[in-house]
Amino acid sequence: MTETKTALELIDIHKSFGSLEVLKGVSLSAGDGEVISILGSSGSGKSTLLRCINLLERPSQGKIRVSGEELEMKADKNGDLRAVNARQLERMRSRIGFVFQNFNLWPHKSIVENIIEAPTQVLGLPKDKAYARAEALLDRVGLLEKRDAYPANLSGGQQQRIAIARALAMEPQVLLFDEPTSALDPELVNEVLAVMRSLAEEGRTMLIVTHEMRFAREVSSQVVFLHQGQIEESGPPEDVFDRPKSQRVRDFMASHA
Ligand code: ADP
Ligand code: MG
Repeated sequence: MTETKTALELIDIHKSFGSLEVLKGVSLSAGDGEVISILGSSGSGKSTLLRCINLLERPSQGKIRVSGEELEMKADKNGDLRAVNARQLERMRSRIGFVFQNFNLWPHKSIVENIIEAPTQVLGLPKDKAYARAEALLDRVGLLEKRDAYPANLSGGQQQRIAIARALAMEPQVLLFDEPTSALDPELVNEVLAVMRSLAEEGRTMLIVTHEMRFAREVSSQVVFLHQGQIEESGPPEDVFDRPKSQRVRDFMASHA
């Protein structure tokens, strides 16, 4: 029997903003090559959960492991967890690609400069290698001819494909997507989903917050439904979509059909 390695493990993640407890103990585990879709109403804690994974938000409690390596954290005086070792945090962050709803490309850098920035600055990749990698990725997302353009000259769908290429340039072990198509005009959604689908098919480990139900059903190995900071229901897509146990999930599916 071959054993699947765990790419990402979240154990009992809690997060409070002041007295507001937004995550109330979320655990999930993504095996190598798994695609997990995270669903839930607005305000259920989906973005906060993703942001806790690379400490864009500092969790109040819990453990984070990437490829079996646990991020060392300890509580500061506010009760939030802080990375003990800045080097380890940087290394673990470099293994986690993040794609945001609003692309977050650097506006004053050209497309190719956006893509080579982190590989050269964080990984110390030589510039010629970084350029070669960037061009291969631009080709992959179908935007090689935009190499020297600036983000403002691209459509939202193109910017998001660039943001995905930028994340891939770090050769991350896990990719996190926070509503990657929610800011796009409807006619631009599919070009981004097509890139994401190809990543899923090549066995990338991905956590995807999305409202694209059909896409989530087709690409996910596991679906997690968050409600008020807790997992209300989770399982393979055919269970969560077709025979949800929870009334809340049934209502959600009905209103997003
Ligand atoms: P979702 O992505 O599922 O819509 P979020 O994770 O963005 O939900 O937010 C969950 C809850 O946490 C919401 O009530 C939101 O207002 C609150 N929240 C998120 N970020 C902050 C913050 N920086 N400070 C205070 N409250 C926050
Ligand atoms: Mg959100």
